[in-house]
Order: sequence, then structure tokens, then C-alpha cells
Amino acid sequence: MPRPLNYICSKCDFSDSDSSSWGKYVYKHYDLEVPVHYQMGICYCCSSIAPLEILPSKQHLDFLNGLIEKFPNNASFNENRIKEEHERRTLLKERKSAARCLKCGGHDFEYIPFHEPPVDRERRFQMPWRSGVIHRTCGGRIYFQYSEVNFFGPALITRYFNIEGVKLNGETCIARGC
Ligand SMILES: [Zn+2]
Ligand SMILES: [Zn+2]
Repeated sequence: MPRPLNYICSKCDFSDSDSSSWGKYVYKHYDLEVPVHYQMGICYCCSSIAPLEILPSKQHLDFLNGLIEKFPNNASFNENRIKEEHERRTLLKERKSAARCLKCGGHDFEYIPFHEPPVDRERRFQMPWRSGVIHRTCGGRIYFQYSEVNFFGPALITRYFNIEGVKLNGETCIARGC
């Protein structure tokens, strides 16, 4: 069972968990459905930890191709990821807007790459560890911490987006102007 990961600020009372973002994110365009590529991070539009869209790039394709050489045993897994990236590229050919926060649709955010805690397995569920990202609002540091409680999480839902990254049949805060 995955554990919710908390993101906490060392200086202010900002704290949020990734568990409300669990589930699938999919672009839907007529009959076509392609998974959204995203990474978790902090969104300054909705002041929360949110999945943040990553648009297709040559850089990411090169990265995936590099993985095939590096990990030949996982070749078929990575070939599927490359196929998916090509599909996304084709689908988003006409895309006009910049990458969005998938929670609110805003553009003012920062990715927070996850990395493993620098402690042994015994202690990893107790100690917070640095993400390397600064909380822009207060200048504090964002730390990761696994949730201590056993938690079954919300039902995993699939969220659909159009090719501009706008949530279909959902509330988006683009009106807020971020
Ligand atoms: Zn803060
Ligand atoms: Zn947001």
C-alpha cells in the first residue's frame, strides 16, 4: 500500500499531502486517450501540493532513449514509455498554453523532484528530509515526510483533460488569472 507523502515547510505552517492527487490523469481528445506526463510540486496559484503537467520535449525523449541503453532488461517497459511520449507529442501538436497545475489550471508553480530519504528503512517513516526546494512564500525549506498514520487513501479516480491541459467537466481556477 502506498503511503501518503507530506510536504512541509520548515518556516511557515504550509503542509500538504500528495494523497488527494492519487489516481490517473489522462488527455481526452475525441476517441483518443493518452496519459498526462506530470510531476508533483508546489503550486502558488492554489497554494497546494499538486500534480504539475510536463509537456513533451526532445529532452525527455532523449532521456527515455538513454534509459534503454542503460537498463536493457527494462527495454520493453521503456519502449512503451517512448511510444506513449510520441503519442502525447502528436496529440499536443497544436497546444498553445504553457504547462498547467492539474489541480487548478494555473501556471505559477515549481516542480519538486522526489528523492529517497537519506536514512535507513527503520527510520524513514519518522524523519523528515529535505527536498531541496525553497518555499517562495516565506523562504523556508520544503521537507518530505511520510505520513505516520496507516491510510487507505481515496478511491483512485481518473481525471480527464483537453489538449490545453484544462480539466474536462471540472472546476478550474483560470478565472483567478494565474
Ligand atoms: Zn513556508
Ligand atoms: Zn494549482
